Amino acid sequence: QPTLAVVGRPNVGKSTLVNRILGRREAVVQDVPGVTRDRVAYDALWNGRRFTVLDTGGWEPDAQGLQAAVAAQAELAMSTADAILLVVDATVGATTTDEAVAKVLRRSKRPVLLCANKVDDERLMADVASLWSLGLGEPMPVSALHGRGSGDLLDAVLNALPETPKEVFGGTGGPRRVALVGKPNVGKSSLLNRLTGEERSVVDSVAGTTVDPVDSLVELDGETWRFVDTAGLRKRVHTASGAEYYASLRTKAAIEAAEVAIVLVDASEPLSEQDLRVVSMVVDAGRALVLAYNKWDLVDEDRRYQLAKEIDRELVRVRWAERINVSARTGRAVAKLAPALRTALTSWDQRVPTGQLNAWLNDLVAATPPPVRGGKQPKILFATQAQTRPPTFVLFTTGFLEAGYRRFLERKLRETFGFTGSPVRISVRVRE
Ligand code: GDP
Repeated sequence: QPTLAVVGRPNVGKSTLVNRILGRREAVVQDVPGVTRDRVAYDALWNGRRFTVLDTGGWEPDAQGLQAAVAAQAELAMSTADAILLVVDATVGATTTDEAVAKVLRRSKRPVLLCANKVDDERLMADVASLWSLGLGEPMPVSALHGRGSGDLLDAVLNALPETPKEVFGGTGGPRRVALVGKPNVGKSSLLNRLTGEERSVVDSVAGTTVDPVDSLVELDGETWRFVDTAGLRKRVHTASGAEYYASLRTKAAIEAAEVAIVLVDASEPLSEQDLRVVSMVVDAGRALVLAYNKWDLVDEDRRYQLAKEIDRELVRVRWAERINVSARTGRAVAKLAPALRTALTSWDQRVPTGQLNAWLNDLVAATPPPVRGGKQPKILFATQAQTRPPTFVLFTTGFLEAGYRRFLERKLRETFGFTGSPVRISVRVRE
């Protein structure tokens, strides 16, 4: 679905507006200086159309870094969203920071909407008009707090958003979307270059611009793949402060935009927190996963042994993901990536028919029933796979199933049905 990015300096009311767009009554999120939020992408629905709202305002810079940080927000928005909403505080007017951001946004190839917030009553309309000076067209007055004007704003947003998100070949049937992610210096750019052959991709979706979204279409193993936000790999957005936050935001956005992620790890160094965090982002987003251990040319017998231990200790959670030891430098095993991506996506798309699932489950539960709790034996009445992408199962039971038993079920499910490379979700509904 198409994506709207909301940008603006701190305290203009971005979070309130995002909540308003999402139809949430109370302000769930607050702009807290220096605090990063967990989620950046939310699903919104207006007039029967779904779109994603990307909230870029989770991190608030100190005074010095303000301009650079908001400009980075804008760049991020331009490379990931289908339309951009710049929020300005009408009671303050256009500040130099607003002007700097507007200047960046005027270069955008995507539609940019200007929203004048905090217009709680008519008397502020003159101030709203002065915002024409930002050169982004007509400022739309809203009061995010009271809801005034938000319907008109949402209509304008829907108008600006394309029916289908930016895609070279349209939504369905187009190339499958891959995020190549990992902490800095693990070799993402090097691997991308290796995959695309000599410093350039087969096709770049947008040529000749530096700030526009650039996904790369890459031909691997006879199939075209869409590597999302590769612009972020080639050209790093450096901000005075907050660079790390933006890198992480960008990683999240890329994962959200993709169907499958290759998490690249530097095999020559110990696994780090940051590596694990990227893996978690993929699993939590419910995307398929391939783990690639890069710089294998530097890995000797000793390191290999250490790494195996680290993987056993830290990555049990994603035992189901395929692991490939590659070298972007020598090209080692790079050809194995495409088959692994394919396997992961097949799992991600897989659906187990309800009849088959229940037959299997009955046998399993008969052999190994859930542990008794509070003197009662929980019974599993029925199971169904409610969703694919990722496969999501719902179990209807007469009692609570312990985490241990749920893990057992997942393990058995995987043994029988595969799901290599894809997270699997199991939710339990207790019927009284
Ligand atoms: P990125 O930040 O993840 O995009 O990482 P880069 O692609 O910029 O690579 C970081 C450094 O690692 C560069 O000096 C690369 O030359 C080096 N590098 C990348 N892949 C390999 C590899 O497979 N083997 C070795 N030895 N070095 C690599």
